[in-house]
Amino acid sequence: MAEVMDRIELVRGDITKMEVDAIVNAANNSLLGGGGVDGAIHRAAGPELLEYNRKLGGCATGDAKITPGFRLPAKYIIHTVGPVWRGGKRDEDRLLESAYRRSMEVAVENGVRTIAFPNISTGVYGFPKERAADIAIRTVKEFLANHPEIEKVYFVAYDLQNYEIYSRKLSQE
Ligand code: ADP
Repeated sequence: MAEVMDRIELVRGDITKMEVDAIVNAANNSLLGGGGVDGAIHRAAGPELLEYNRKLGGCATGDAKITPGFRLPAKYIIHTVGPVWRGGKRDEDRLLESAYRRSMEVAVENGVRTIAFPNISTGVYGFPKERAADIAIRTVKEFLANHPEIEKVYFVAYDLQNYEIYSRKLSQE
């Protein structure tokens, strides 16, 4: 797994600044914007994003849709919808895994080689951060092992707690 781990990098900061082929947005089902990372991405991408997304018809939880990056340094935005945490018995783990996997599938379909993920569902959606990090790391590693087309996956941690969790888990891999 050493080779796969070389293609994963942890970054602390604001995902809208990432110079990558695609950044992933932790969106909601409407794709019409929200708070947290979604709000930051809509502000940085510009009003063209909202206009574009109005025609997409939303996105199911666990699925992903791609748009241009508009005013972002990133060429694309991959909008995915993670689950709202409701205690763990409502398929949350599987839906979070699906959000990561579908984002990477859509990335590959569009020739994306470098991609940055926020910590999906761990903000307003309340998914426990340790548990979310385990799912994110496992799903990304599995995907990278089967998809050499993806050169680099960045986990972008905005809050210190997520940064520390990822830092510890990735160093243990
Ligand atoms: P969700 O509704 O999926 O929980 P949030 O946007 O509320 O989405 O939170 C998801 C994660 O995004 C949180 O860990 C939060 O710290 C992080 N976040 C917020 N703003 C940014 C940003 N500008 N860049 C990267 N991550 C961000």
